[in-house]
Amino acid sequence: MLDSSPAMKLRFAPSPTGYLHVGGARTAIFNLLHARRHGGTMLLRIEDTDVERSRQHHAEQIVSSLGWLGVEWDEGPIYQSDRLPRYRQRAEELVAAGRAYRCYCTVEELDAERLAAERAGVAYRYSGRCRSVTAGAGPYVIRFKVEAGPIGFHDLIRGDVRFEGELIDDFVLLRSDGYPTYHLSVVVDDIDMEITHVARGDDHLSNTPKHILLFRAFSAEPPAFAHLPLILGSDRKRLSKRTGATSVEEYRDIGILPEALFNFLTLLGWSPGGDRELFSKEEAAALFDLSDVNKAPAVFDVEKLLWMNGQYLMRTPTEKVYEYLAPFLPDAPPLHEMRAILELHKPRARTLRELADQVRLYLVADSNVPYEAEAVRKHLKDDDDVRERLRELRNALASVEPFDVPSTEQALRSLAERIGVSAAKMIHPLRLALTGRSSSPPIFDVAVLLGRQRTLRRLDYLIDHIPELTHAR
Ligand code: GLU
Repeated sequence: MLDSSPAMKLRFAPSPTGYLHVGGARTAIFNLLHARRHGGTMLLRIEDTDVERSRQHHAEQIVSSLGWLGVEWDEGPIYQSDRLPRYRQRAEELVAAGRAYRCYCTVEELDAERLAAERAGVAYRYSGRCRSVTAGAGPYVIRFKVEAGPIGFHDLIRGDVRFEGELIDDFVLLRSDGYPTYHLSVVVDDIDMEITHVARGDDHLSNTPKHILLFRAFSAEPPAFAHLPLILGSDRKRLSKRTGATSVEEYRDIGILPEALFNFLTLLGWSPGGDRELFSKEEAAALFDLSDVNKAPAVFDVEKLLWMNGQYLMRTPTEKVYEYLAPFLPDAPPLHEMRAILELHKPRARTLRELADQVRLYLVADSNVPYEAEAVRKHLKDDDDVRERLRELRNALASVEPFDVPSTEQALRSLAERIGVSAAKMIHPLRLALTGRSSSPPIFDVAVLLGRQRTLRRLDYLIDHIPELTHAR
């Protein structure tokens, strides 16, 4: 790629204040894909300078969720908490250069200013009165001296953006406890780590002019910025727990495949062109560019994710599905016993959890098939002859040779014809006996997978229990 710069470097910079949100995961993916497309690299930086809200276990969880999702960073994780002296040093440099100053205002003084602004009905901005204080006593913060004037930049997604310096506060760089604010640490790091492109959520857009001022104050070229559109839930409001899970882990736990979630998140605001919806990470990395990301908010459609996951399950080799299934089916028999079952069921499940539920029916004892109440009501109740029909079916299946799909099906159909009932009147109770449900893959496939002995045992069990099953209802 001729237009690529060998030094292109992006970063994903989560704050470890909670789990990895799907929106954060999308940000990570877009950073990764842009880096891969242009032969650049990606760094993972944990922004944990907010000691009140940051937790090490959140950082570990985010790192592990990214690994599961297949977001492979080239450098890091770098923890900002390891770099505190560096931020202090950089803040002091700005003070020495006259671009920042110590502010000794007390909380009470600041509150009074805030209250006065409120009473006057104007937006609060720090008055800047410590700008001219040369020495003070007691605790202080370091504030940036914001110069008036317009601050413009070209956002790769939103186009030209302009802010007025007059509207920006002399914001704090270093708190009185010596910890940096987000604005300071992010800019110091983006400079030190030679970041060329910053792709982050739209919610940071209003921070960007402050960051640009800081880059300039440090005589550094600001990186290119790309502010990613918001992700909305199905209710068209900002994605939240109201409309479904928001953490990567929750999707992993219901049995979404990492490749499917990666693919799905990539489509939130980007498309490879045409109607193409299913593509691999490598395919996306060959085409992706931050400047092609849509400005409009993207909608997180859980149904679409489930559909897509089903497509991935269907296409995933059985051995791999077997591996993925392990946490959902800890008692799974060896692969050779499971292969045919998985092959029959994997095109019929949308999640690994659904697949495990279906597969578990083959693993339970024949006297322990859980019957769905609804299936019992539909296919057993008010049908006095069902017991007799099932007995006949049992006998037909006991002697049919060979016990394969065409012969078992033929046996059932001839029997139905002989006694003058529709085949459905036998198929449904048979399905209930074998699976406990009113829907399943073709029931003769299920019977053959169970084998003759287990099929007969399940039929016997149901036949014996019809009176109490129908009575209980
Ligand atoms: N740490 C910030 C966050 O989690 C992101 C900072 C950035 O990307 O500049 O929202």
